Amino acid sequence: MYNIQKNTFFQNSRKHVRYISDIDKIKQLSPDERDTLREIAIKYPFRVNSYYLNLINWDDPNDPIRRLVIPHRDELLEWGSLDCSNEKRNTVNSGVQHKYGSTVLFLVSESCASFCRYCFRKRLFLKGNKETTINIEEGLKYIRNHPEVDNVLLTGGDTLMLKTEKLDYIIGQIRRIKHIKVIRIGSKIPAYNPYRILNDDSLVEMLKKYSEPSRRIYLMCHFDHPKEITPQSREAIRRIIDAGIICLNQNPIIRGISDSPAVMKKLWKELTYMGVAQYYVFQNRPTIGNTPYAVPIVEAYRKIEKAKAECSGLAKRIKYVMSHSSGKIEIVGVDSKHIYLKYHQAAKHQDNQRLIICYRDNNAVWLDQLKPVKGFENRYYSEINDSFRIN
Ligand code: SF4
Repeated sequence: MYNIQKNTFFQNSRKHVRYISDIDKIKQLSPDERDTLREIAIKYPFRVNSYYLNLINWDDPNDPIRRLVIPHRDELLEWGSLDCSNEKRNTVNSGVQHKYGSTVLFLVSESCASFCRYCFRKRLFLKGNKETTINIEEGLKYIRNHPEVDNVLLTGGDTLMLKTEKLDYIIGQIRRIKHIKVIRIGSKIPAYNPYRILNDDSLVEMLKKYSEPSRRIYLMCHFDHPKEITPQSREAIRRIIDAGIICLNQNPIIRGISDSPAVMKKLWKELTYMGVAQYYVFQNRPTIGNTPYAVPIVEAYRKIEKAKAECSGLAKRIKYVMSHSSGKIEIVGVDSKHIYLKYHQAAKHQDNQRLIICYRDNNAVWLDQLKPVKGFENRYYSEINDSFRIN
């Protein structure tokens, strides 16, 4: 059996982490604040945990950790749509999204250790959601029947919210499918609740078992801010890396949380030191309720470039991308007149690597709001309405 080397500080320190879904139980908020925010916490589900709450500096109303999980009154402003990347269209089976030939998304979890206020999949946490996997076997059957797929991303929700036993079954079944080489696990657990990893040695043992030398498991972490990097999260990541799991980080650019070059630089550097290379920075999707979190493309591009300029080559590999319904689009440049974009991965194979040049619009937050230069028109434009403009 795999022997987990433990930091002596954490050796005997299992910790019970409480989940809280009732905003009235957050006593650090004033009664007035709770009154104002109750309606929002009902409209777009609220969830946090005792570990993460302890990272908040309650004396600072703009504390980034607070902003990440405590509702903001502007979430009630009319803006965006519930499924702005049209993920529903790519849903081919129970909890299975298949948009790009070799990659399948398997939505196996319908919960997270806290809910990010800006979540692009908040529809999954609303009543009546049917997009996560109801029948694991059907999803597995779909993957077995598609030999062109060589990598599966387990997501949701947060994959590591599943019980280790269930996750063992799912990963074990996928490992038996010869054409699947890479299994990616999408998770914000190392940031939200590292005790999920520290308290459960069998989770790390199980991941180690399935991360084979020629078929690795990747943990796609989601750290948004350097304040999330604590002794506990470092130790959780250390155990995961020591078990042979490759860790990468991806996060969206969010107003008031990750929209400062200094914060980005610090986050990427700290993560790199821990062995977690930054992979994508996402343009935050214009999801309903996300007005207070939006950062326009031009501003985001400038800030990301500024942060990159002060980092080593490792961080310079970051790609700033938009998960548009027509594909994953990289924002490759901005000048005084134009925004330059390129399909990093397109829903239609023939669009792969295709360049799109649009007129510069400092307020645009999504591709559909940009006007393409003649000859670069995109036939997938304007699938969603223009209700998420920032003026
Ligand atoms: S961790 Fe991901 S799925 Fe969960 S609330 Fe945050 S953005 Fe949404």
